[in-house]
Amino acid sequence: MDRDLSEDDSVVDLSFEAESPLAPPAELLERLPSYDWLFQGGGQQIMFPPLEAPGRPLEQRCWSSFLEHRVPLVTEEVAREALLSFVSSKCCYGSTAAGDLIIQELKQQTLCRYRLETFSESRISEWTFQPFTNQSVDGPQRGTSPRLWDIKVQVPPMFQEDTRKFQVPHSSLVKECHKCHGRGRYKCSGCHGAGMVRCPSCSGAKRKAKQSRRCQMCSGSGRRRCSTCSGRGSKTCATCKGEKRLLHFIQLVIMWKNSLFEFVSEHRLNCPRELLAKAKGESLFKDENTAVYPIVDFPLREISLASQRGIAEHRAALSPRARVLQQRQTIELIPVTEVHYWYRGQTYVYYIYGTDHRVHVVDYPDRYCFGCTII
Ligand SMILES: [Zn+2]
Ligand SMILES: [Zn+2]
Ligand SMILES: [Zn+2]
Repeated sequence: MDRDLSEDDSVVDLSFEAESPLAPPAELLERLPSYDWLFQGGGQQIMFPPLEAPGRPLEQRCWSSFLEHRVPLVTEEVAREALLSFVSSKCCYGSTAAGDLIIQELKQQTLCRYRLETFSESRISEWTFQPFTNQSVDGPQRGTSPRLWDIKVQVPPMFQEDTRKFQVPHSSLVKECHKCHGRGRYKCSGCHGAGMVRCPSCSGAKRKAKQSRRCQMCSGSGRRRCSTCSGRGSKTCATCKGEKRLLHFIQLVIMWKNSLFEFVSEHRLNCPRELLAKAKGESLFKDENTAVYPIVDFPLREISLASQRGIAEHRAALSPRARVLQQRQTIELIPVTEVHYWYRGQTYVYYIYGTDHRVHVVDYPDRYCFGCTII
C-alpha cells in the first residue's frame, strides 16, 4: 500500500535545529562570583603557580672518583664476540665474515653523557558539562571555590607522566541543554523528522526500471523506514543523553610532565649520535632533588656547561606556567669502540657502544639480502 508522508502523524513536529555547536554559548553560563577571572581569555586559563621557596646553597663536589672510574677496554676477542652475536641476531647477515675477519685497529673512547630530567605539574581550568541526572549540585551557595593551586590532589610517583581531571568544588550549576533546548530529543537528520525515507532500491518510483512488478524492497510504497532513527523521526539528544538538562562545572586539568635535556660530550668517532643517546652507560654521578643546581666544577668543562644550559632551559620553558616537583641530573660514561677490520682484501668498520656492547655496522661484507624483504 502506498503511504504518503502527510499520513504519517506519529512524527512529532520538532522545529528546532538538528545541529548546534558543541560548546555552550558563553552567555548561557552565569558568571560565578569567585571565578570571574576564568572568562578573561576565552574561558580557559592557565594558572600561575605560587613562587618557589629559595633553594639550598651550592655544595662543593669532589670529582676525584671520576678519575678512578674506568670502563674496561674492549679487547679483540670481545670485539669479535660482539659482532658474532650481532650477526646471529640478524636473518640476513652471514657469520662467516665475522668469524674470519682480521681486526686491524680498535679506536676506543669513553664519552660522557649528561641528562637532566625535570618533572613538573601544570594546571588549567575550563568549563565543561555532563548530563544532569538529579545528582546533588555543589554550587556557589555551598561556599567559595578554592583557587586552583590550593586544591590538594594525589601526585603520581615522581617522573611518571599523567593527566587527570577534577571537578572544582562549588562551581556547579544546572542549565537546560543548549543543543535540544531542553527537549531531550532532536529531529533526525536522516529523514528530516519524517521517519520514512525514499526507497533506495526503486528510488521512490515504486517499481524497478523496465519491470512491471512493483518493488519488493518497499512493497511498492516507494518509501522505507528511516534506519537512522528506526522510524521515530527524532533521536535522543547526544549532548544531554535525553536528560534535558546539563550540569555545568569548572574542571581542573592537571598535567604531570617529564622534560628531558641531554648532552653527549664531543668525540672523534663517527658513531651516530642517536645511538649514543640510547646507549647503556656506567653511572658516574646522580643528583636528585626538588630543584638541582648546575654542576660547575666537573673536570670536563663541556659537561658543566651542559648542566648550566639544561637547568636554565628548563627553568625558562617551565617557570611561567608549571611548578617543578622534582629534578634529576646524571652523568654517565658511554664507552665507544671503532673497529677497523680486513676481510677478503677490503677494510670495513663497525662500532661497539655502551656497557652492554651493542653493535652498529656501517657496511658488512657478508650480507645477502637488502632490507629483509625476503625472510
Ligand atoms: Zn530518521
Ligand atoms: Zn522500492
Ligand atoms: Zn539535549
